[in-house]
Amino acid sequence: MRVGQGIDVHVFSDDPDRPLVLGGVIVPEGPGLAGHSDADVLLHALTDALLGAAALGDLGTVFGSDDPRYAQAPSSVFVGEALRRAGQAGWRLVNADCTIVAQRPRLAAHRVYIADGLHRVLGVTPGTVSVKSTSTDGLGMIGRGEGIACLAVALLERVPAG
Ligand SMILES: [Zn+2]
Repeated sequence: MRVGQGIDVHVFSDDPDRPLVLGGVIVPEGPGLAGHSDADVLLHALTDALLGAAALGDLGTVFGSDDPRYAQAPSSVFVGEALRRAGQAGWRLVNADCTIVAQRPRLAAHRVYIADGLHRVLGVTPGTVSVKSTSTDGLGMIGRGEGIACLAVALLERVPAG
């Protein structure tokens, strides 16, 4: 078995029309996050955890943060490709655990909705991925409501041969 971890942080966007996307689903409260792709901070952290567990590099080097192909791209592309590459290297996902760190919006009520979306995006059995949320009690950049961070851990196991 192999474990990997990922972390990502995005600042909120000034664009009031930009949706907040977490785990591939839109959280209606917003505000949206700034970034080259859809700025899905949860999927970015999870992608890095998957790539890390399989020792296949990281989000920036695999996909290129200024590659025009990924401008406004849904981050499901990244996590799907990370899963595919891990699979090609002989690994499959056992489970993953994600913690979203946000002062705003309050995400506790959306946790299950986000997790459901995430399972659809990954094409894995419900219960494979856990989504948790916390705040920083008003401390620091997250506490001042300037953006959202996410931490993720993923466990992979060898696909049995044959
Ligand atoms: Zn990111």
